[in-house]
Amino acid sequence: MSDDFIPLAIPNITEAEGANLQKCIETTFVSTVGEFVVEFEERVAKLSGTYFEPDSTLGSCGGIAMGAGTMALHMAMHGCNIGQGDLVICPSFTFIASANSIRHANARPWLFDVNPDSWTIDTKQVAEALRNKTHRDAEGVLRHTKSGDRVAAIMPVYTLGTPADMEEIIALSEEYSLPIIADAAAAIGVDYKGKPIGDMADFTCYSFNGNKTITSGGGGMVVGRNREIMNRIKHVSTTARVWPNYDHDEVGYNYRMTNIEAAVGCAQLDRLEDFVTAKQKIRRTYDSEFADVKGISPFPYPDDRGSTCWFSGFVVEDKNLPQPEQICAKLGHQRIQARIFWKPVHMQVPYADTPMEACPYSEDVYKRIVTLPCSTQLTPEQQARVIRAVKEILAT
Ligand SMILES: *Cc1c(COP(=O)(O)O)cnc(C)c1O
Repeated sequence: MSDDFIPLAIPNITEAEGANLQKCIETTFVSTVGEFVVEFEERVAKLSGTYFEPDSTLGSCGGIAMGAGTMALHMAMHGCNIGQGDLVICPSFTFIASANSIRHANARPWLFDVNPDSWTIDTKQVAEALRNKTHRDAEGVLRHTKSGDRVAAIMPVYTLGTPADMEEIIALSEEYSLPIIADAAAAIGVDYKGKPIGDMADFTCYSFNGNKTITSGGGGMVVGRNREIMNRIKHVSTTARVWPNYDHDEVGYNYRMTNIEAAVGCAQLDRLEDFVTAKQKIRRTYDSEFADVKGISPFPYPDDRGSTCWFSGFVVEDKNLPQPEQICAKLGHQRIQARIFWKPVHMQVPYADTPMEACPYSEDVYKRIVTLPCSTQLTPEQQARVIRAVKEILAT
């Protein structure tokens, strides 16, 4: 079987998703209205700790399902009245969608470096920049001194499903009155030091894209406890329609998740715990098997909090070893899919001019990362084949 292709990260779909999809077809509820959307929102809000009784059928329950994680982030910022002339604090080492969502809201990202021990935003750097590079104007608005832009929010990214340093971020959010909009794209299923993940931010946004911890085909969700803002987000992402007629009270968005997507999402939720357990086991196996390989190090796993271990792999430390692109190419020849990882946002064409602090660690580490197969259905035999192949490549 050694010539089997081993993909990097593929969805784990079984008959349950098909049965739910069949129900959508039989009932003709295929679009944004339907029982699976309601169920999916309730269940995700409950497991995030943000659920509340909706105040009407048009009201939110603490979770609002969207067509993508990017849309969930955009709508969270819209709900916080973030727009033109605003900056949102965000790590540079993230998937570009975090920054794109800020631009979709007409604001700009203010980019920061990440910590080596979690790959999440460097809160010391953020604290220093807030202290030294912002001021309160005559109206008391917090402004980035150099650009004059308002500093409007903090967007920590839960990189690889690992929550950021939330005590520090919550303290900064209180000191400077900044809402926290968490990009938790791959972090569904994790808690933070025993507290539900939705407790850590005003708004927490998930992605259910095909390669995330659970998938709905494509999709996302914003969860949060502020009923008024959540109701407003639900309204504006549903074309801002005032029922029952075609009255719309602002420029709305057609951003809601479909019942077909939610049908897949609901079936996936039943297996969320199994998926996270599988991902964590895959990570532990790679880490222990590579522990004695010289010149590489494991992905960070801060021991004071959990992680969904969305992706697994290793970091090349020794310049004399084959480098990530070479390693990936060689694994590819053995029908093993491996990839390099996110290029920092400030190195991307659309963000060359956005405000940023020095990001030496992001610029260095991204070039040294190899991500390895980590689908939840990866078998021990397949993983052993990946491990053997990596060890051979690094030994030659
Ligand atoms: C996947 C991802 C997103 C975007 O989610 P989509 O559903 O693809 O729009 C945002 N941020 C991070 C960190 C991601 O990994």
